[in-house]
Amino acid sequence: MEENNECIFCKIVAGEIPSKKVYEDDNFIGILDINQVADGKTLVIPKKHYKTLLDMPSSLGNEMLEAVKKVALKLIDEGKAEGFNVLMNNFEVAGQVVPHAHIHILPRKKDDGLKGMYLEDAKKED
Ligand code: AMP
Ligand code: ZN
Repeated sequence: MEENNECIFCKIVAGEIPSKKVYEDDNFIGILDINQVADGKTLVIPKKHYKTLLDMPSSLGNEMLEAVKKVALKLIDEGKAEGFNVLMNNFEVAGQVVPHAHIHILPRKKDDGLKGMYLEDAKKED
């Protein structure tokens, strides 16, 4: 797989940095987010280094959707989620910190105290 030497997610894909892998297929991995704002919060990451969604070939779309659905279903099956939010930050201005495309899957439960989507503003109290 193509790798960007400076990229933390490329290093995770290559196994050079440890991660808790909860899903894997030909082109994607699912790993537990280091920041478990909710138990089971997962990142779906393409194995190849694409900076944002715009760099990803659309031919990966079906597989990406399948990966997201499988991770979400597993969270529900394991009792870690009753519902979930799916979020992708693209470019710094939108909150992207790691410049390797990834999708956040945030498990949700009734009265979990999280406000809607996982955005800085969404976590603030009214
Ligand atoms: P973003 O702001 O969309 O770029 O999100 C980056 C996400 O990657 C954040 O939710 C971080 O908690 C997460 N993250 C950063 N480093 C690691 C790591 N080594 N393992 C797992 N998740 C990470
Ligand atoms: Zn990368």
